[in-house]
Amino acid sequence: MAVVDLGGKAVVITGGARGLGAATARSVVDGGGRVLITDVLEAEGAETAAELGDAARFLRHDVTSEGDWEAVLAHAVSEFGRIDGLVNNAGISTGQFLEHESVEDFRRVIDINLVGVFIGIRTAIPLMRANGGGSIVNISSAAGLTGLALTAGYGASKWGVRGLSKIGAVELAEDRIRVNSVHPGMTLTPMTAPIGIAAGEGNYPGAPLGRVGLPEEIAAAVAFLLSDAAGYMTGAELAVDGGWTAGLTVKYLTGR
Ligand code: NAD
Repeated sequence: MAVVDLGGKAVVITGGARGLGAATARSVVDGGGRVLITDVLEAEGAETAAELGDAARFLRHDVTSEGDWEAVLAHAVSEFGRIDGLVNNAGISTGQFLEHESVEDFRRVIDINLVGVFIGIRTAIPLMRANGGGSIVNISSAAGLTGLALTAGYGASKWGVRGLSKIGAVELAEDRIRVNSVHPGMTLTPMTAPIGIAAGEGNYPGAPLGRVGLPEEIAAAVAFLLSDAAGYMTGAELAVDGGWTAGLTVKYLTGR
């Protein structure tokens, strides 16, 4: 797959031990950039960074902790001398009906998926401003563009990430910090593996393209937004969802 030019860029990716974050880390390195992967999964994170070679580092990081965020971004600056990109990718889902979701689960999802993104953006602002700008990519979801069953806290957090991205875009434009959101559809990762949908054409009628997405297909969009090729994009919401949020297919409407 063709890669965008990220030569000289230093990028921090949260939740990068596996799944979409790990695929995005690979895209950054393939594009010539350097990456600090962070995650609560220490062994998997260290392994992912080791596989990517000299251009990658790993640090343990809980995105809900302000102290961790300070340490992570300070580490990125000490390793790379700068921070050009931040991908707020870490997230969890609970998959429960609204009626059955506990308040504790709802709060935990909001804390990781939304408050974690807020702390990350806030902590990165002065460092990116000092560089003369940067690109922040927040991983929302198709569930942040439309209502999706079984996503009470998750969907609410992803709508919040979409809104927070727009606020960041308008407030930070004068600092040349671009803020965009990416909205993946159903994509094969450890998060969605338990649902049991196999890769391949025709296996997923939920998306007009008829299949689930692959992590590298989401990563390609994130890498683009990190790059200077997206220099005029801020406040955009980029759906990478096989057409899911575009609307319903005839097959879906008629059952045939
Ligand atoms: P994943 O579970 O494979 O990866 C998420 C990573 O986030 C894990 O490595 C996990 O350890 C990490 N994480 C969880 N809590 C954390 C915390 N407190 N601090 C730091 N890291 C933490 O899932 P994925 O599918 O790769 O998801 C990545 C992002 O993409 C998530 O924000 C998810 O909501 C979003 N997304 C995924 C899909 C999909 O179909 N897979 C669709 C839409 C959006």
